[in-house]
Amino acid sequence: MKRNLRIIKKSLFYFKPFKWPMIITLAIIFVQKSSGHTSSYFLGKVVDSLSMSGVEAAVWFLVAYVVTSSVIPVLFNRIRAIYEVRTTDFDIYNYVQKTSLFKSLNLSLGQIRKEHSGFKQDVLRSGESSIDYFHQVITDEILPLISSFLVAIVGLYFIGFEFFVVSLIFTILFVGYGSHINSHIKEPLKELIKRRIERNKVYVDILRSLFFIKFANQKEAATKQLTKVQTDMRDHAEKIWVDFHKRSFVLDVMIVIYVGVIAYFVYQGLVRETLSVGMLIPVFSWVGIFTGSLFQVRNIQRRGEIALSDLEKMFEMLEQKTDLEECDSPLPIVSFEDKISFEGVAFDYADGKKGALKEVNFEIRKGDKVALVGRSGSGKTTIVSLILRLFDTTKGAILVDGVDLRLLALEQWHDLIAYVPQDGDLLDISIKENIIFGAKHKVSDAEIEDVLEKAGIKEFVHNLPHGIDTKVGERGVKLSGGQKQRVCIARALIKNAPILLLDEATSSLDSETEAFVNKAIWDMLGDKTGVVIAHRLSTILDADTILVMDHGEIVGIGSHEELLKTTPYYKTLVDAQNIDL
Ligand code: ADP
Ligand code: MG
Repeated sequence: MKRNLRIIKKSLFYFKPFKWPMIITLAIIFVQKSSGHTSSYFLGKVVDSLSMSGVEAAVWFLVAYVVTSSVIPVLFNRIRAIYEVRTTDFDIYNYVQKTSLFKSLNLSLGQIRKEHSGFKQDVLRSGESSIDYFHQVITDEILPLISSFLVAIVGLYFIGFEFFVVSLIFTILFVGYGSHINSHIKEPLKELIKRRIERNKVYVDILRSLFFIKFANQKEAATKQLTKVQTDMRDHAEKIWVDFHKRSFVLDVMIVIYVGVIAYFVYQGLVRETLSVGMLIPVFSWVGIFTGSLFQVRNIQRRGEIALSDLEKMFEMLEQKTDLEECDSPLPIVSFEDKISFEGVAFDYADGKKGALKEVNFEIRKGDKVALVGRSGSGKTTIVSLILRLFDTTKGAILVDGVDLRLLALEQWHDLIAYVPQDGDLLDISIKENIIFGAKHKVSDAEIEDVLEKAGIKEFVHNLPHGIDTKVGERGVKLSGGQKQRVCIARALIKNAPILLLDEATSSLDSETEAFVNKAIWDMLGDKTGVVIAHRLSTILDADTILVMDHGEIVGIGSHEELLKTTPYYKTLVDAQNIDL
């Protein structure tokens, strides 16, 4: 119960901006429902006046019946529908989505990168749907239900005290036992949600690997993997819900007893003539409303439990604390003046590789062109990640112009860096829009031409059917790996930051990159500071300084010529041309 209240309270946060529209909707619903439910009373009055005082007297009750049963409900229904479309129907979901997006962006870059995106999508989508579901349930079910319930119980009170008391006792028993049943499924439900997430994660994973699955002819293996998690979830669900319905059988019996007891009192009322014949109509109509709404409550409770568990998962994810401690008053950094130094830096991945870096010491001076080389897994990307402060060092420190990176204002530091990841993502918008995405100044066409030229894709882009306005497809699928990275480089150059970090694409030397390689990567940097994870000999040859990495350590620092003499390991790498095997 406590947990449910906590989650509901958190969900209310999302409804806050919609408080007034929801209150107004509530008022409309109340009018609509109470009007509809009083109509049976007027119908009863029609019957009574017919038998007692004739047709004349019945006319006004008939009119009242028509107005309350159709005119008011129909009119208010339409008004409410239009009002909701305008104020809440779509706006709440959109608001929830935006809020989730902002909260997700609060996490550190390191967290954002490592979070399984299929898992994230699934949890957020289920959670967001649940908020939307709550809104629907509140307006379409709970509010009408409360209105119906109030009208029915007040009406029954006026017709006969015994009907009122019996209904009240029945309600308490019904809701009480219903909650008892719910408490039995709470824990198993959590497990069910876990299994559902697992199932959807596997499904998304498979969808992502469709190409490979088909190519490797692994349809059966993939189906088997999916079937396993599906069956896991299904069997658990069957157990929970069969048990749930078996227990709910008691509630069915309660309803039958309730209607029976009411019928008994009606019989008594008729015999003692304390109840008129016409009043049979509202009594049974309201009793019907009663049992109907209580069953509906069961349904809402049942689906509500699922929605609450979904929301709990979503809140858990959205409330994750960022794993980077910002210091209380970070020091401003508006320019890069001197050097970046790694001082005795060691790094362990929290949930993975220990010793990804071990005792690393080096300096990058302003204006240096530094190449990082080494076999795959030697720690090159980790170095770049630490410069970006995606993570904090496990040991040692990184100093920027002599100041510990952890003391600096991180967003300002990022403003000084243009970063091109190895598998940079593009949005499904045009090349031009991708290039100016994130630029903080107004970008001129001449500037765009200039960076296209520098990134070595000017000719390629202009030969596309729609030129620079060509859309790149989801995640840039319409471009080759190399082309994609060139666009990312152009985007980085537009930023015009003093430091450029580039994880060179490995997509070897396809023709369009070949042309670019001839024009050395360093040229485009001008007097900027560059750190490039280099996979190509041509890149390395022209670097001022090369850092040779092996198993998380720097085993050589120097120019190409120097290293050939001092570092045998470097020579083997170069000889084999397998700098990133
Ligand atoms: P490189 O870029 O030189 O190929 P990385 O710096 O990416 O190598 O990785 C260094 C080591 O750290 C590797 O052994 C890799 O498996 C591990 N590693 C990299 N990223 C992560 C991560 N996010 N979580 C856990 N281990 C990681
Ligand atoms: Mg790497």
